Amino acid sequence: MDIVSLRKKFAELFVGGSSGELIEVHAPGRVNLIGEHTDYNDGFVCPMAIDRRMVILARRRNDGLVRLHSASSSQTVEFPVDRAVPKDGPAWALYPKGVAEILRQKKLITTGMDALATSDVPIGGGLSSSASFEVATAFALLAANNAQMDLVDLALACQWAEHNYPGMPCGIMDQFISAMGRKGYAMLLDCRDRSTRQVPLNDPNLRVVISNSNVKHELVMGEYTARRHQCETAVKLIKKKFPNVSSLRDADMDALEDSRLGMDPTVFRRARHVITEIERTIDFAAALEARDYAACGKLMYGSHLSLRDDYAVSCGELDALVEIARVVPGVYGARMTGGGFGGCIVALCTADAVATLTAKIESEYPKKTGKNATTFATVASEGAHIVK
Ligand code: ADP
Ligand code: MG
Repeated sequence: MDIVSLRKKFAELFVGGSSGELIEVHAPGRVNLIGEHTDYNDGFVCPMAIDRRMVILARRRNDGLVRLHSASSSQTVEFPVDRAVPKDGPAWALYPKGVAEILRQKKLITTGMDALATSDVPIGGGLSSSASFEVATAFALLAANNAQMDLVDLALACQWAEHNYPGMPCGIMDQFISAMGRKGYAMLLDCRDRSTRQVPLNDPNLRVVISNSNVKHELVMGEYTARRHQCETAVKLIKKKFPNVSSLRDADMDALEDSRLGMDPTVFRRARHVITEIERTIDFAAALEARDYAACGKLMYGSHLSLRDDYAVSCGELDALVEIARVVPGVYGARMTGGGFGGCIVALCTADAVATLTAKIESEYPKKTGKNATTFATVASEGAHIVK
């Protein structure tokens, strides 16, 4: 929705109650370029903010009430911020409510706002509409209260909100990149010490293409729990010979090979994925910095194979998308992105290749899977900010 219609809609929705200037907040969704299932192993991830975002228009109220309308769900919720924010109401509102609660607990906000939220991040599509909602809410509430917050603390507060209100045990990547992404940069994030490095991704001839398989397979939660368990088991076994290894981040392939005797072959393969993926992620950031996109692409294909064969979290639809992309001229690399069992692939390609890649997916994917994919090109975009 354009900003003029948005302002008009805001005026229609909120008659009276709030005063002063309108605050316009943008917070982007994200795609993870490489580094999958590494976060809970203290490893690295390399996401970038995409040019799709949540926009919140907000105006300060002079009481402790938040009135929030989501255009996507055509619903308005109301909740207090001058006392504990209740964990009730529609499921979508738990994301902003959790954010309001943690900012209240930190004594950063006392006053409420009228707010209209609208987004072009696909909801539930693995591009982190949830984190963009949280981060946009935090920016809006802080601005309405003339309060400031360090961005790392803000991202962690948003993670707290997702853990404690909707109850999703997410990592830190989504909130970090939505809050701290920079236009023209990917972010190498160390999930162990939470340090970040901005990696240039601003070649005018380069595009990132995202294609949603439009499938979501069941049993995902159980599979994740099993993977985490297998990683822990691998660490325990490696530790016997290498006592300094406290997570797979600390191990290398030599240590894993040395610990192979008596290790369940499945556990070995899971650990091999994590160890090699952490290495690929570091190498990817270096290759991106060197503008060696062919090397970046190779690492992406390597990541996909490792996720497919060693970590076993891909599926036929994601494999089909990667195989389609592989033979398109100008495509450097492609891989599944996100937790797996459905969701999106991400491809790195030349600007010229976007049209062919999109057309190929449109013609080939339905033949291979009987389904349609949703495909779009994007570039590394600005993290959350207030538009003056
Ligand atoms: P993803 O973050 O990959 O898009 P999640 O399942 O983590 O998927 O988050 C999606 C949920 O976030 C939605 O089901 C909804 O509750 C909430 N949400 C995200 N964007 C919006 C929005 N624009 N309006 C209302 N709720 C939203
Ligand atoms: Mg999410």
